[in-house]
Amino acid sequence: MAHVPAFAAFSESTPLKPHTINRRAPSPDDVAIDIDYCGVCHSDIHVARNEWGRSTLYPLVPGHEIIGRVAAIGSRVIGFQVGDLVGVGCMVDSCQRCSACDTGDEQYCENGMVLTYGSEYKKHNVASTQGGYSKHIVVDQQFVVRVPDNIDTKAAAPLLCAGVTMWSPMQYWKMGKGHRIGIIGLGGLGHMGVKLAKALGAEVVMITTSEEKGKDAVTLGADSVLLSKDAQAMEAEANSFDFLLNTIPVSHDMNPYVSLLAYDGTMVLVGALEPLHPGLDGMTLILGRKSIAGSVIGGIKETQDMLDFCGKHNIVAEVEMIDIQSINEAYERMIKGDIKYRFVIDMNSLNA
Ligand code: NAP
Ligand code: ZN
Repeated sequence: MAHVPAFAAFSESTPLKPHTINRRAPSPDDVAIDIDYCGVCHSDIHVARNEWGRSTLYPLVPGHEIIGRVAAIGSRVIGFQVGDLVGVGCMVDSCQRCSACDTGDEQYCENGMVLTYGSEYKKHNVASTQGGYSKHIVVDQQFVVRVPDNIDTKAAAPLLCAGVTMWSPMQYWKMGKGHRIGIIGLGGLGHMGVKLAKALGAEVVMITTSEEKGKDAVTLGADSVLLSKDAQAMEAEANSFDFLLNTIPVSHDMNPYVSLLAYDGTMVLVGALEPLHPGLDGMTLILGRKSIAGSVIGGIKETQDMLDFCGKHNIVAEVEMIDIQSINEAYERMIKGDIKYRFVIDMNSLNA
C-alpha cells in the first residue's frame, strides 16, 4: 500500500483540494504507473459536481486521461517493462467473461465496467476507485495501453478518453473515405473527432455554435464549417450527412441536427447523458430511415488501435498545460468554452 498525493472533490459543491489516497501494492497482474500527465475531461466536472446524479462516493479524485511510466510490474505481467510509456483511460477492469468483454467491448461489460474513478471495486476491496489527478496508479495489465513514443506525450493524454470516444463510433459504423461526417461541438472530444475523421479519409464538417472557433476547425483539418445558430445555413445542409458525432454536453434540441442527416444516416450521441428535450420529430426520422444511437468510450483493443493509428499519423490533442493547483479555474473556463481544446495537468506540479 502506498500513500499518494492527489487532488479531490470532497463534495459536489466545493472546489477540488489536496488529498492523500492509498494505492494497493501491485498484485501479480498489476502494472504500477507513475503519472506524468492527466487530461481534463468535461466528464470530470459532471462527476465531481454530481451532475449525473450518480456521484455518492466522496472524496473523489477525477482524471481518466492518464499517461505515465511503468514503475513496477506484478509477476504475471507480460508485455510491459519498468520505464515503458503507458496510458490508462476511463476504465480499469471489467468481468472479462460476458459476451461484451469477449468481443473486446469491455466498456459495455454486462456486469458493469469498473470506472477509473468513482466505481466500487470489489475485487480489490476498494469502496471507490480514484483517478489520475494523482501521482501514481495501479492498474490490471489488461487495462493498460502502450503509448507510441514518437508523439508528444503530454498532448497524447487526451487520446485516452476524448480520442477513443470519437474513434470507436467511427470504427463501429465503418466511417472513412467517401463519407460526409459532421462533428457537433468543438471542444475536447470534437477537436479529436475532426482530426481522426480527417485522417480516416472522410469529408469533415465542423458544426459549432462559435463563429470564432469555426475558423480554428479548418486549421485542425475540417473541410468546412457549419454554424448551428444560422438557421439558413443549417437548412442549406439538410439531408447531406452520412454520420454525425454529437458531443454537446447538455440537453438540447436534436431535431435541427437530425434534419442534417441524409437518408440512412446516423447521429451518435456521446455528450448528453441525461433526458433530452424537446422530443424528437418522428416524421424526419421515419421518412429518412435515420438513426440516433449512443456510444461510450471504446474497448481496450480499440484504444490501442487508435493510439497506434495516432502514432502513425502523428495525431495528438491541442493542449493547454496547467498545474494541478489551477484545476478549479480550469473547470470554470471549460464550462465557458474558454479552452483550445483540452487542459492537461502536468503532474510534476503535485508534490507530496
Ligand atoms: P467540452 O470540451 O466542454 O466541449 C463541449 C463542446 O460542446 C463545447 O466546446 C461547445 O462547442 C459545445 N457546447 C457546449 N454547450 C453547448 C450547448 N448548450 N449547445 C450547443 N453546443 C454546446 O467537453 P468534452 O470534454 O468534449 O465532452 C463533451 C461531452 O461528452 C461531455 O458531456 C462529456 O461528459 C461527454 N463525454 C462522453 C464520453 C462517452 O464515452 N460517451 C466520453 C467523454 C466525454 P462549440 O463552442 O463548438 O459549439
Ligand atoms: Zn472523459
